[in-house]
Amino acid sequence: MQSISPETIFRGNDAWQKSLPHIIKLTKSPLILGRGIHTNNLRNKIFRDLKNQNLNVKCANLRFDCCYEDISRINNIVLKNNIDSVIAAGGGKVLDAGKYISDCLDIPCITVPLSASTCAGWTALSNIYTKYGQFIKDVALGSCPKILVYDHKFIQTAPSRTLASGIADALAKWYESSITSSKIDDGLVQQAIQISRVLRDQLLIDGEKAFRSQFENNLSWRNTVEACGLTAGLVGGIGGEKCRTAAAHAIHNAITQIITTNKFLHGEIVGVGLLLQLRLEGMKNNNKLADQSIKQLLVLMKQLNLPTTIAQLGINVFENNNLEKIADFTCRDKSEIHFLPFEINKQDIVELIRNFEQQKIKI
Ligand SMILES: [Zn+2]
Repeated sequence: MQSISPETIFRGNDAWQKSLPHIIKLTKSPLILGRGIHTNNLRNKIFRDLKNQNLNVKCANLRFDCCYEDISRINNIVLKNNIDSVIAAGGGKVLDAGKYISDCLDIPCITVPLSASTCAGWTALSNIYTKYGQFIKDVALGSCPKILVYDHKFIQTAPSRTLASGIADALAKWYESSITSSKIDDGLVQQAIQISRVLRDQLLIDGEKAFRSQFENNLSWRNTVEACGLTAGLVGGIGGEKCRTAAAHAIHNAITQIITTNKFLHGEIVGVGLLLQLRLEGMKNNNKLADQSIKQLLVLMKQLNLPTTIAQLGINVFENNNLEKIADFTCRDKSEIHFLPFEINKQDIVELIRNFEQQKIKI
C-alpha cells in the first residue's frame, strides 16, 4: 500500500478559512497540538475559529520533541477527553508527533504547517527522537494526513531561518534519491526523481529571492514555500520507500546524537550532510560533478545564512570523541548510508569529516 498524498489540500492566502467547512464535517472534538510560544498566536486563532464553529476544542503542547515521552502523555489526553482528531499546527516535530498519535489511535490528522521548514505536513512518515533531540528512527504511517492546510499567511509569519532550512531539506531530495534510486526499474520512482530535479532547479533559481522577500509574498516566495512544504512531500509520496534518503540524512541523524545547547533545525543539519555526501561521492564513486555541485550549493547556502560545517552547528568534532560517535551512528546497521551504491565504512566517514572540518578539502 502506498499513500501518495493528503486526501484534501488547501493552499494559498486563505487556506485556513477555506478549510473550516471541511474540518467541521470531519471532527467534533479536535485536539490542537503545538510546541513553541512564538506560534501561540496562530494556534489561538485556530482555537477561536474552531470554537466559533461550536467544536469542543482542546489544546496540548509538546514539551520536548517528537519523542515517546510527549507522545504517550498526549495519547492519554486524547483518550481521556474523547478527542476525535488531531490538528497539528507547528513545525516538523509537531506535525510528525500529530501524525504519529493519530496513526496510533486511528483518528484523522489535520496538518497545519506554520513554517516551510519541512514537508512533514504532507508525508506518511514520522521521525522519532529522544527528548533531547537525538534521532531514533523513522516510522512509516498508515496514510498521509486527512487534510493539509498550507496557509501562506500563517507561513509568512515564520522566521526566515525556517525557510532556509526547508530549502536545504528539499534540495537533498534530488541528491539523495538520484544516487540511491536511479537504477530502480519502476516508472513512478523515476518520475519522482525527475520531479526532485525540477524542484532543485527551482530552488536554485528562486531560493535566494524568496529568502529575501518573505514579507512581500511574491511569486518567488510562494513557489519556494510550496516547493519545500508540498512538492518535496509529493516526491516522497510518489517515490515511496524506494525513493530513498541517503548520506545527507544519515549524517543528519548521526549529528543529532551529539547534544548541544543551541538547537539547529532539521534542514540546517541536512544541508551540512548534503555537502558531506557530495564529497563522499567524489571520493568513493568517482562523481566528477561533485565539486561543481558543492560549489553551486555553497553559494546558495551562504546567501541563505545556512551552516556549511559541523563546527557551525555548534559541534567540535575533535572534542569528546564526537567524530567517533558521529561515524559510528552514520555507519550503524540500519543507517540510510548503506543505500548508497558503494561500500562505506566507519573509517571513510572519520576521514571525510576530519578533512572537511579542517577545510583540507579544496572546493
Ligand atoms: Zn529531511
